[in-house]
Amino acid sequence: MDDTLSGTRNKRGEWKPNEPLSGVAPIYAMPPQPLRVLRWLPEYLLPWNLAFAVSGLAWWLFLTPPLETLETLDWRWILPMYAVNAAAVFLFYGAFELRLYITRAQGNRFKYNPKFPADEKSDVFWFGNQVTESILRTFLSGVTVWTLVQALCLWVFANGWVPWLPWTDNWVWLAVLTVLVPVIHEGHFYLVHRLIHVPVLYRWIHSVHHNSVNPTPWSSLSMHTVEHILYFAVGFYYLLIPSHPFILLFALHRAGFGAIPGHVGFDKVELGAGGMDTHAYGHYLHHKYFEVNYGDGIVPLDAVFGTWHDGTEEGERRMKERFRKKKERMKAATPAS
Ligand SMILES: [Zn+2]
Ligand SMILES: [Zn+2]
Repeated sequence: MDDTLSGTRNKRGEWKPNEPLSGVAPIYAMPPQPLRVLRWLPEYLLPWNLAFAVSGLAWWLFLTPPLETLETLDWRWILPMYAVNAAAVFLFYGAFELRLYITRAQGNRFKYNPKFPADEKSDVFWFGNQVTESILRTFLSGVTVWTLVQALCLWVFANGWVPWLPWTDNWVWLAVLTVLVPVIHEGHFYLVHRLIHVPVLYRWIHSVHHNSVNPTPWSSLSMHTVEHILYFAVGFYYLLIPSHPFILLFALHRAGFGAIPGHVGFDKVELGAGGMDTHAYGHYLHHKYFEVNYGDGIVPLDAVFGTWHDGTEEGERRMKERFRKKKERMKAATPAS
């Protein structure tokens, strides 16, 4: 596939898409624009959100123990649940890593950063290797926290301590809530993400994730354990909102498997005739410049707070101007010695 048709590469070899990134999903347009929303829906649902809804349903139907088992917290069902999640992450993340970063099946076509992290050693990582640290953090902490949140929430559902709505009587509300799962995820992630960019929390917690300036699929859950806890806490919303365990599992999959799209490092995976768009560029810019694109536009808070970088020269200029003003404000606030 020819990556020069949809993007350009600068002198440093960095590739970027020609189309500006939209920081505001069309659902917020005023006056409402139903046709634009309809045209946008496939992009919202496909391929990721639909895939995570299907995997959430599969987990609920085939991979969740019976209710009487869930009523009591017990390692004998929680450990197998960890094993299932870990195996799925290994296969899903591993498939992207294998194709794009190990066999390098499409070279650096559609790759934002021309370099591959495996070619560069860095002392900031455990064993001097980005991928090794990312894999260890994913399985030791990421999948562990994910599984614990899953187990705790299912235990609460099974004991009847929160509303569990049957689909037969509540299908309209549950369908609406299912469609809103990615919106709730994004709103929660935005708030948590802004919080851990507060300097003291950034240094302690979030810098671990940002060490991957040039992310790979394994960077997705390469986080400090406190960030994992904040990130997967999105599951607890579904104990507060009248819901159904399948929707909880979809939300956890949106968080766990859904971390991948932003960290693939390629704009397109060359699969099928047209390739598969990853929508990774917004979050790639966050890893590159840190203080832009805390979210991805599904909840348009970056646009509201002026932190959206749309990938264009104009976006770059706005960001630099904002950074310059911030520096000036900090200088003015520092007393002269
Ligand atoms: Zn990231
Ligand atoms: Zn960040």
